[in-house]
Amino acid sequence: MKCDKCGYESSLNKNKWGLIICEICDIFSPKDQDSFRDYMLEKIDGSTLETFRKNYVSNSEKQKKTMLKKATHGRLMSRAPFGYKIEKGNLIPSENQKEVEEIFEEFLNEDISLRRLSEKRNLSVNGLKKILKNFTYIGKVKFNNQIYQGNHKPLISAILFNRVQDKLERMKIK
Ligand SMILES: [Zn+2]
Repeated sequence: MKCDKCGYESSLNKNKWGLIICEICDIFSPKDQDSFRDYMLEKIDGSTLETFRKNYVSNSEKQKKTMLKKATHGRLMSRAPFGYKIEKGNLIPSENQKEVEEIFEEFLNEDISLRRLSEKRNLSVNGLKKILKNFTYIGKVKFNNQIYQGNHKPLISAILFNRVQDKLERMKIK
């Protein structure tokens, strides 16, 4: 049985709401049926999951369970990034979620230094840099140095995020 999302063939793949899904794609799959269908429609190249799959398989059952639990619960990060909070184990937008887009827009469109912007937002320069580079805001999760589709709500568009990455690069901000 081939995974309908990444194409991975395995007898361990499960049938979920009429679609075939592999163990790894299932880790990140949304819990309700509608979001699940959207998630499955967004195909991914199975090879990008290979590292993850290898590590996953070589782990003990206990480690697997912990990993699975962490991933499904959006707990891949030790604490919620600015603009999110963790509720019942899920990453959800917090009261200050709008500020995230404002910060990205302001950094992109204004001629403002990182220091001034951080002071204005009551953040440290490093904290601001972390925000501007955080993939979480476009709905992704970073695990094992690879980027995966998360199951939380993005706070900004990928276009805005990418433009900011370009500007950071132009300004040689690491
Ligand atoms: Zn898959």
